[in-house]
Amino acid sequence: MHTAVVGAGPTGLYTAIALARRGHEVTVIDRDPGPDQNGSWKRRGVMQFHHPHAFRQQVGEALLAEMPEVWDGLITAGAELATVPDQPGQPERVIGLRCRRLIFERVLRSAAEAQPGVTLRTGHVDDVRTEQGRGVGIRVSGHQVDADLVIDASGRAGKATQAFRGPLEGGDCGIAYVSRQYQLLPGAEHGPMNVPFGIVTSYPGYQAVVFIHDNRIVSILIARANTDRQMAALRSQDVFEAAIGAIPSLAAWSAPDRSQPITPVLPGGRLHNTYQGQRNAAGQIALDGLIFVGDAVCTTNPVAGRGVTTSLMQTQRLVQLIDDHRRDFTSCSLEFDHWCETNIKPWFSDHVYWDAELIRRWSGHDIDLTRPLPSDLIMAATAVDPEMLNVVGPYLAMLALPASLAAVEPRAREIYASGWRPPVPDGPTRDELAELVTSVSARNGGFR
Ligand SMILES: Cc1cc2nc3c(=O)[nH]c(=O)nc-3n(C[C@H](O)[C@H](O)[C@H](O)COP(=O)(O)OP(=O)(O)OC[C@H]3O[C@@H](n4cnc5c(N)ncnc54)[C@H](O)[C@@H]3O)c2cc1C
Repeated sequence: MHTAVVGAGPTGLYTAIALARRGHEVTVIDRDPGPDQNGSWKRRGVMQFHHPHAFRQQVGEALLAEMPEVWDGLITAGAELATVPDQPGQPERVIGLRCRRLIFERVLRSAAEAQPGVTLRTGHVDDVRTEQGRGVGIRVSGHQVDADLVIDASGRAGKATQAFRGPLEGGDCGIAYVSRQYQLLPGAEHGPMNVPFGIVTSYPGYQAVVFIHDNRIVSILIARANTDRQMAALRSQDVFEAAIGAIPSLAAWSAPDRSQPITPVLPGGRLHNTYQGQRNAAGQIALDGLIFVGDAVCTTNPVAGRGVTTSLMQTQRLVQLIDDHRRDFTSCSLEFDHWCETNIKPWFSDHVYWDAELIRRWSGHDIDLTRPLPSDLIMAATAVDPEMLNVVGPYLAMLALPASLAAVEPRAREIYASGWRPPVPDGPTRDELAELVTSVSARNGGFR
């Protein structure tokens, strides 16, 4: 069977390798020609490529299950294991990989290039070709590519197959990012950490995060409401540096005796929570022989680092279903759609509610106890009652669906009803940070 995969991101590459190992001939088409010979990679059209990524252990497990050499390649390339203490006397438990997306994709792409049965082609997929109501291939930069099955792994920005699909649920998550990468200096120790991937500090109005990657490279990030126009000037280098210098958890990492910047400041807008299944506007399978997977199905606010996990969870399931259903692609799409509705969509819904409530609180409102508590507040309440971690822990690790939190929601509600609120770390309030942003920006001639 010949399968055409649209998109050579994590989803497309993983799908191609896994299918080729099951006997498919796979052609993967991406408009991006791949990394330069010196290993650098601009990756136009994938805005998030140089923004921080944390890879959860589900990603590691997906690699170990199908392509262990990719896992080994990542470790050889400098990726570090993120671990947490387990039972006393037991070794630490691995919960993910600390690695730049650049390294992750470069290693995965090399494996796809080396995989017999996979052909990587550079080109723009214009649309899907149909005959008698079924997909028979794609058009790539004006040329025809025949295929028995077309898999759309074109990510959140893919447009080639939109005409077949029903409406997209969700949209902008309301949050914007600014980040920059730094290299730790020889001999410099790590800065403060409160999670295995680095440090997360949350203030009413913004969030400050450090992600540890491979090879002693870290990303420093500030997230804000995208309606907070005053903070938009954070994308200017001097403003960003002044702002991170004022936030203790970030300043400790960016101090000149600890690290130096290695990239420009990277703005990251248009962060989405979206879901779009396998059906058309009439509720039927969009097209026999065309299946959507990865970010083309679901995107979530990256703050919880779930995107590559939900993408590879889908891919693993899809590859099994393609095996089971053989050439009955409509049955395969139906079963995959049902599986995604049950196992992937709840992560989308979780973020939609979490983000809307967070933005509401960032605009000055208190926690609303007349409504269901969002997941971030249920997680925060474990600081008061660590027993709740029995339920919250599996959710946090994405081993239990968001609905599992219902078991501890009443206890969290009790905690907030008593007047407790998550403690705010040392550092500027949103207004103080915005004032700093405005004054540095004005000193530099303003921000447009
Ligand atoms: C700012 C940000 C930070 C993130 N951080 C994390 C994180 O920490 N952890 C995590 O797990 N996830 C994170 N994510 C999510 C993660 O980046 C996505 O889940 C992941 O990129 C999905 O992979 P994909 O292969 O489905 O799509 P993509 O990576 O978008 O790849 C799609 C590919 O399709 C190609 N393409 C599209 N249209 C066409 C066409 N017509 N013709 C040819 N090629 C085409 C594109 O060039 C691209 O290569 C983050 C997302 C953002 C926005």
